[in-house]
Amino acid sequence: MAQAHRLDCESAVGDCRFIIQSENEEETIELAKTHMRDVHGKDYAVEELRSEYLKIV
Ligand SMILES: [Zn+2]
Repeated sequence: MAQAHRLDCESAVGDCRFIIQSENEEETIELAKTHMRDVHGKDYAVEELRSEYLKIV
């Protein structure tokens, strides 16, 4: 079974239940980046999202 990449917005923002999960790491990060910017007005670096918040599930 393929591994999935998962990013819980809660781990970054605290009070948001948004979860992005995909088999494609780039897509997961891209979606997270867009969500952070559009919903929370925060601009995260791709590297930061990957190293700090991305999990393999
Ligand atoms: Zn969020």
